Amino acid sequence: MRTKLLILLALVAGFALGQAAVEPYQVSVNGNASKIKVGHDQDSLILPLALPVTTDREEWTVVVLRDDKDHKLDVKMSSIKRKVRGDTDCYYCSATGKCAQDSPAGSGLNVSGASEYYCNGTGVCTHCGGTKKL
Ligand SMILES: [Zn+2]
Ligand SMILES: [Zn+2]
Repeated sequence: MRTKLLILLALVAGFALGQAAVEPYQVSVNGNASKIKVGHDQDSLILPLALPVTTDREEWTVVVLRDDKDHKLDVKMSSIKRKVRGDTDCYYCSATGKCAQDSPAGSGLNVSGASEYYCNGTGVCTHCGGTKKL
């Protein structure tokens, strides 16, 4: 009886460990929940991020907070560029603030139901950052 219980515990523990290893990380980008799928390589997580390049020189600050307990990656990314006046309606998203590349717009998913990379799976327009203004 005791041996059986130990074997069962070992199985459960092994299963739990296996589960923990493959449990997906929930990514949020600038506070927006993302559909990005995170890859694994030994102890590293591989986070695929898309950077829109609009000028001949782009500088970005990307900060990633990794929370192994809750399986979360909190990404803060911002482009260092000249301040825009923000008084024209964003024409990329028709001033909706939603990513126009998504299907449907703002879902963070592409036509095949995978994470849409223009908005890093957040559904937020990358050009106006959801503010609807450029
Ligand atoms: Zn998108
Ligand atoms: Zn926009």
